[in-house]
Amino acid sequence: MDLTDILATVHRDMQAHLGRGRVADYIPALARVDPKHFGIALITCHGQHAAAGDSAIPFSIQSVSKLFTLTLALEKHGGKLWKRVGHESSGSSFNSIVQLEQEQGIPRNPLINAGALVVTDALLESGAPANLITHITAFMQQLADDPSISVDPEVATSEGETGFRNASLANFLRAYNNLHSPVADVLQVYFNQCALRMNCRQLARAGLFLANAGIDPLNHTHITTPMRARRLNALMMTCGHYDASGDVAFRVGLPGKSGVGGGILAIAPGRASIAVWSPGLNPAGNSLVGQMALERLAALTGWSVF
Ligand code: GLN
Repeated sequence: MDLTDILATVHRDMQAHLGRGRVADYIPALARVDPKHFGIALITCHGQHAAAGDSAIPFSIQSVSKLFTLTLALEKHGGKLWKRVGHESSGSSFNSIVQLEQEQGIPRNPLINAGALVVTDALLESGAPANLITHITAFMQQLADDPSISVDPEVATSEGETGFRNASLANFLRAYNNLHSPVADVLQVYFNQCALRMNCRQLARAGLFLANAGIDPLNHTHITTPMRARRLNALMMTCGHYDASGDVAFRVGLPGKSGVGGGILAIAPGRASIAVWSPGLNPAGNSLVGQMALERLAALTGWSVF
């Protein structure tokens, strides 16, 4: 089967499941999204594209952004970053407060909320939040090779008005001296990076460097080193789906990062970058149908890393 046929098959097989799961209603602007959407797109390291369903409809990438800010922070700080955040699976929900207290303000990994707040703080370093938001947006535009990518201000404002739990995590980090910029500045950047709007095609394109040892295979731009690309993939596999990361490794076998907008970016190292979107979430906060689709895709392609 060629890749277009494989995605058409995955799309067809998901029809019976569309609408399952719950949209992330704790962010009011996301509660309004129709849970029946489903899109999938992939791009190979040779530049071959395939897509099916709502692959051109933009959605809120939410926590998928954590992967890209981590890429930037590792380029900026190198291994020093690991003094402030761990690289171990959390075994807890993405916004756990109790774990942060138990571990005295050092988040378990950079792909849970507390860890991502530290990463954003490491990028901010007392700079202006607006400049960093512009920088992160420009990075996504560069990676996706698409200058039209932008932040959805309504989603960013919506989360700003209701993000009390993230505010708690940020204040907690600050109390442990693991947040250096003002809490309000870090949260402003974090809510805006989460509110980046992209579609499956753009997101798959943006992740392609991770399938090719840190180099964009289509324009040969250095994004990160081979070692860091390997580690980003390792973190996606062990931490990218929070407490369900083991389940995703078991069922799908590809490094991935999910977001509560219903998007998942998955990497088949050496082969392709895949983005899937379906807004209904499972109890761990990952796209329910998106995860099923990746399981089907991995079975049809044999792309599991195991
Ligand atoms: N913006 C969301 C939050 O911080 C991101 C969470 C997610 O996508 N898992 O709660």
